[in-house]
Amino acid sequence: MKEGCPVCRILGEYEESEINTILYEHVNDPTVRVKFKESLGLCTYHAWKTLKTAYSNPLLGPLGVAIIYEHMLSTYIKILESWEKVKEGECFLCLLVEEKEKDTVEAITEKIEELLPVYESSEAILCKRHHEMIDSILRKKNPQSAERLRKVQLEKLKKLRERMNSFINKFDYKALERPTREEVSSLPMTIEALKGLENGATLRKKERKKRTRGVLLWR
Ligand SMILES: [Zn+2]
Ligand SMILES: [Zn+2]
Repeated sequence: MKEGCPVCRILGEYEESEINTILYEHVNDPTVRVKFKESLGLCTYHAWKTLKTAYSNPLLGPLGVAIIYEHMLSTYIKILESWEKVKEGECFLCLLVEEKEKDTVEAITEKIEELLPVYESSEAILCKRHHEMIDSILRKKNPQSAERLRKVQLEKLKKLRERMNSFINKFDYKALERPTREEVSSLPMTIEALKGLENGATLRKKERKKRTRGVLLWR
């Protein structure tokens, strides 16, 4: 297990591979195009990520994305012309990532006995969100493992805090050494431990919260 949250890392790779599959194989696939149309071209995050992925791969380039988004633009123009209401449904990539998140978390809880010692001795730290998801399943199925995981998690977080403190101390004018690689990486690791990495699942949750708040204010 590498540094950072293993679930977030799996979701990041999954997202990337899904976008690549779309761009390599499904640019002209009508069923995929229908899915794009439902959200008028994915959510903001996935739309930009798709373009970035296309540009960063010389084998792809922007043509496939251009073909898809020309269609989305035409759809939007047609709606606007006809005075219809613009419907923007859920982004299907977000839904896919959320599904993958659920499966990954469940798979971890099923193999928790095997995974705990590997996790404990690794540099990995589950982010708050994914620890909570795993914990809530384990509390019902296997409370002992939930408790062991909580202890391991606490130890890891405290070690991370130590690294962070020695990083901060290196900024003292009396400090003689430069920060080590571990100290420098303690900052992004801490943000990852608290907030996870950006992906369809974490962003979608925020979106939903915003929407419900909007409804409440409206009332
Ligand atoms: Zn995570
Ligand atoms: Zn999305």
